[in-house]
Amino acid sequence: MADLKLYDPFENMQFSDKHCFLCGTTITKEQRTPVFAEWLQQKYNLQDKELLLLDKSVTTFSRLTIPCCDNCHVQHIIPLEAEIEHAAEKGLEGLQALDEKRLFQWIGKMYYGTLVTELIKESDPLVMPEYAVSENPKMLGKFREFFKVLQSLRVPMVFSDFIPCSLFLLEVSPTEDELPFEYQDELTTMAFSVKLGPVVIVCTLLDNSIIRKALGKLYRLVEGKKLHPVQVAEFKARVFYAAYLFNVVPEYFERPQKPEDTQVVLDTIIDDVTNEIFNPWELSAYAHMLEELLKPWAIREKQILQKPGLPLSFLVDETGAFKTIERFDRSEV
Ligand SMILES: [Zn+2]
Repeated sequence: MADLKLYDPFENMQFSDKHCFLCGTTITKEQRTPVFAEWLQQKYNLQDKELLLLDKSVTTFSRLTIPCCDNCHVQHIIPLEAEIEHAAEKGLEGLQALDEKRLFQWIGKMYYGTLVTELIKESDPLVMPEYAVSENPKMLGKFREFFKVLQSLRVPMVFSDFIPCSLFLLEVSPTEDELPFEYQDELTTMAFSVKLGPVVIVCTLLDNSIIRKALGKLYRLVEGKKLHPVQVAEFKARVFYAAYLFNVVPEYFERPQKPEDTQVVLDTIIDDVTNEIFNPWELSAYAHMLEELLKPWAIREKQILQKPGLPLSFLVDETGAFKTIERFDRSEV
């Protein structure tokens, strides 16, 4: 019989090196799994690359590991990583062919791995973080809902009529692309992006695809196009800003189980009565986000806001049509 019991580490805030992050089993300190898989580290030479954690401490990709029992490691993590590695070898096509649920689990594991690292640190009574995630009830509620859907990685699970996240797959033109790998995640807004060679995956993790619907027109415009890195940066700014405005937390409910069931069925509800789904769009806040992501091109907020009411765009022209950019030309900004 399949084990259909969900684990809830948030109930007793069970975040320590002694409990498997995925199933809660008691383990030894040596039982761990990397947040960023070994194949990823090897392929993009990440082992000694530095990573800045939430508490501003620095680690490396190879040192960032989370507690994980042998069973979860062998039965759930390794097969997932093998599937993604295999798909990534075939580039955009391979990743597009994947079940979105698998991509969600893969990104979700990296996101949650960084979060768990922070929560374990905060559970140390000697650590007094400036901004404690574990003391923010709203955030914890959100993480708890997220962990329910992430458990599809371990427990056979059907999402009734939704995917918990929004996924965007972009292809980068090689002409001025110098970055083989890039990774970004925002703990509070749950926006995430990872670049694997010419493919960039952008994801907002707990929005039931609402952001993808909201940005549908823009996404259709760039689909099938090879984008200049500056265009990718703008696309990311738009998604990350939408995640910042996203104002609701989906809730997930298990359907009552019968003894013969072999999987958990999850339904979802979004309360859009008491809350607006998105907070109002603000030009200056968006410009700020865009400036942040356009840092490599040193484009300032002033340039972004040159035309009244119409922020600088590398993706669309004034008629709303797609702009083709082969090479970045500073004089055109
Ligand atoms: Zn486990």
